[in-house]
Amino acid sequence: MEFIKLIDSYKEDIIKSTQDIVAIKSIEEEGKPNMPFGEGPYKALHFALDLAQEMGFETKNLDNYAAHADLGEGDEIVGVLVHLDVVPEGDGWTYPPYGGEIHDEKIYGRGTVDDKGPAIACMYAMKALKESKVPLSKKIRIIFGTNEETGWGCMKHYFAHEKAPNMAFTPDAEFPVIHGEKGIIVFDLVKKIDSNSCGEIILTDLKGGNAPNMVPDYCEAVLESNNISIIEEKFNKFVNTTKYPLSIEKSKNQVKIIAKGISAHGSTPEKGENAISYLMSFLGEIFEGECDIWEFVNMYNEKIAFKHHGEGIGCGFEDDVSGKLNFNPGMIRLEENEIKLTINVRYPIKSSAEEVYAGIRDSLKGTGIRLIEGKEDNKPLYVPKDNFLVKKLMDVYREQTGDRDSEPITIGGGTYARAMENAVAFGPVFPGQKEVAHQKDEFISIEHLMKITKIYAHALYELAK
Ligand SMILES: [Zn+2]
Repeated sequence: MEFIKLIDSYKEDIIKSTQDIVAIKSIEEEGKPNMPFGEGPYKALHFALDLAQEMGFETKNLDNYAAHADLGEGDEIVGVLVHLDVVPEGDGWTYPPYGGEIHDEKIYGRGTVDDKGPAIACMYAMKALKESKVPLSKKIRIIFGTNEETGWGCMKHYFAHEKAPNMAFTPDAEFPVIHGEKGIIVFDLVKKIDSNSCGEIILTDLKGGNAPNMVPDYCEAVLESNNISIIEEKFNKFVNTTKYPLSIEKSKNQVKIIAKGISAHGSTPEKGENAISYLMSFLGEIFEGECDIWEFVNMYNEKIAFKHHGEGIGCGFEDDVSGKLNFNPGMIRLEENEIKLTINVRYPIKSSAEEVYAGIRDSLKGTGIRLIEGKEDNKPLYVPKDNFLVKKLMDVYREQTGDRDSEPITIGGGTYARAMENAVAFGPVFPGQKEVAHQKDEFISIEHLMKITKIYAHALYELAK
């Protein structure tokens, strides 16, 4: 396959393009005229469109929500769905999160593996097919979205105006092939509070987490009391016993309690350490008696803290194709007169949002805590293993990697694959490889980037030949 060899000659360009697009901080911001998701996603989209034009592809921009670039002709279209937006960088990076710096043959930065690196890989895969002049009978179309991480406004707009490809893959999860994805819902648990004092202590602030789909690595509470030495005493005792990663900062009659956890993707809460859970655990020690705050804290500690599958709160569902439900309390806020906890749930393929909501409501009976359903229900995806697309992609994966044992898998992550019929996620993370998406020090190794470019070129060829 001539086009595989060509890819090696693109190495410097592939690295440079990845660094350049990572340098664009494309987190969703408030929309502006012509920039539905703010300036960052807009700039990232235009970077990709310029590159596609340089490569000689026909492009079409759908009002800066999304865009596509085409290679070849044909009535049938093979699609590749990529996203150019990123989640916030969070704290604790060793290298600048938008620096695209190379250390030890790895490119570091937010989006390197999720999903800018793979997007660049797919573009160069198409370039290789184009320049090798290998005959294709179908059109290949790469679709660029700019709002995958925070609402999918991009895909809604795109598919409202363009017909869907006949089949597609998205390089935004894992290898080998993801033939099933759990359903996803985001919702709030809200407790009205008449007063934010509880006994001698006033809770003046409480906040943790940046996004529902991430395990929060930070949470803080500010407490006020005339006798802060009691809080301090209890704090020292608590930390000594539990060894939880908590710290305390004192000022006159206030203390700030800080919990530091380990971030992870919201679809795998068990891989992280939830800072909210650490903090709530301590708050459970110091608030006593009948007050709204205590009731909420107590509910959290009883039903949610350190459990990852909804088993404590009436929704511990599981099935044989996709396993257990994933439950991620991603954000907490003390607002005007309520405490709000935002939760991201991935429910098993054979379960439903209604079932989850009913289970939780039942479990919350009598607590005064309300469940407020999210606007979206991202329904599960399931493509049988013997489907053409799944079979072809598995063949390519096996041939390119020599891994003959792996089988198609199901995940809790939600990818663009569910934005259309007949689509699956395919890579970029190999089995056993460290998961760095949505975490500090996200990186893609140059070797990995080159390998996936070859796999994607081969896959596109097999699907479109
Ligand atoms: Zn992604």
